[in-house]
Amino acid sequence: ATAFVDAVAAAKPLNAFIVETPEHALAAADAADQARATGELKPLSGVPIGMKDLFCTEGVQTTAASNMLGGFKPTYESTVSANLWTAGAGMLGKLNLDQFAMGSSNETSAFGNVISPWRRNDGGNAALAPGGSSGGSSAAISARLCPAATGTDTGGSIRQPAAFTGISGIKPTYGRCSRWGVVAFASSLDQPGPMARDVRDCAIMLEAMAGFDAKDSTSLQLNVPAWEAGLSADLRGKTVGIPKEYRVDGMPAEIEALWDQGIAWLKDAGANVVEVSLPHTRYALPTYYIIAPAEASSNLARYDGVRYGLRDLPDGANLQDMYAATRAAGFGAEVKRRIMIGTYVLSAGFYDAYYNQAQKVRALIARDFDEAWAKCDLLLTPTAPSAAFALGEKADDPLAMYLNDVFTVPSSLAGLPAMSVPGGLDAQGLPLGLQIIGKALDEQGVLNAGLAIE
Ligand code: GLN
Repeated sequence: ATAFVDAVAAAKPLNAFIVETPEHALAAADAADQARATGELKPLSGVPIGMKDLFCTEGVQTTAASNMLGGFKPTYESTVSANLWTAGAGMLGKLNLDQFAMGSSNETSAFGNVISPWRRNDGGNAALAPGGSSGGSSAAISARLCPAATGTDTGGSIRQPAAFTGISGIKPTYGRCSRWGVVAFASSLDQPGPMARDVRDCAIMLEAMAGFDAKDSTSLQLNVPAWEAGLSADLRGKTVGIPKEYRVDGMPAEIEALWDQGIAWLKDAGANVVEVSLPHTRYALPTYYIIAPAEASSNLARYDGVRYGLRDLPDGANLQDMYAATRAAGFGAEVKRRIMIGTYVLSAGFYDAYYNQAQKVRALIARDFDEAWAKCDLLLTPTAPSAAFALGEKADDPLAMYLNDVFTVPSSLAGLPAMSVPGGLDAQGLPLGLQIIGKALDEQGVLNAGLAIE
């Protein structure tokens, strides 16, 4: 724990942490020493982890990387973080992220962007995006500042940053990990999950994080399987589907080659590989970028300058003025964009044309997966259509940024478990990720295919 605390303190230029909490990590290490002496070690005794700053932590500032939550210290602990402390883990600090988890590069944070520890090997020294929104988590793990971290995934925020930084991360089935105490973005999509150096560590973390929680109305009332004990890279008897609609136009040849390599690895592990069709794939991105902002505009209505964090009360202002001034000052540009899109698609005149239609297409996307499961047990795709891009490259072009989520949002809309594992390096020496998507509740199948690839 001391070595990680020192590493975090020495790595300030990466900007991966918003707050450091060395005392918490060191206390867990002391508790682990005592537990070792009495033979009462727990699954994560003494393990120092990073906590995405979207999880409420009692008495420790929680910002969602937004000025809107300036000065907010929750009086309660999120269920997922509480579960991790019960398992013996300690917190190194709160990790940077895209503001309210909205973004794919960590550049929408009010605390500045995170810098990926990776560099292109062609001599170009451009600082690269660590992915987003869990960019602090991905950068910290790949820079070896912590062995594991929490993430949240609404449309890819665990998987895409994992792919950009050469680490692993799993978004479990919607409802496996409690959303209670996690700052809400789009509640029908939000799902916490672990990020770590390898598949085994993800399995151990997920076992500690998951479980039924009566405080989350969409929490699944199921026991937590022994995923780590069930790990096996033997895929004999499994059929892996390759969705042909994911071969999108303009996909770089290196991503195609990575995908072919992934297919070969799964065949070597004994899997049978077949082509499948998910015909509504091309509607997933527009559907996601209607539903997620709609839910966000509703969830973010609570930031009124009265209950949490920031209050901007100009001289002589009435209540309406205070709301407006607080929200104008507190929210960043991307958050405001989402609130405007969301309120527009939910407005009386446009509800049927956009929001209702998107809900119908969401059902069709879920049905595509159901039909694919008649032919296969798992799906293999690239995680993202590119390797890490340079900071600033897409920051002024929201549509280009949204396009980076093309492979991750369909499984989010369907609530399915999906994982990114490192697949190799591109010609510039940058990591590329492979994504495995599974049936609802089949995290074991997903983890096992991940193990066969890594
Ligand atoms: N990049 C996507 C977005 O901006 C996904 C974010 C997430 O999963 N939290 O909405």
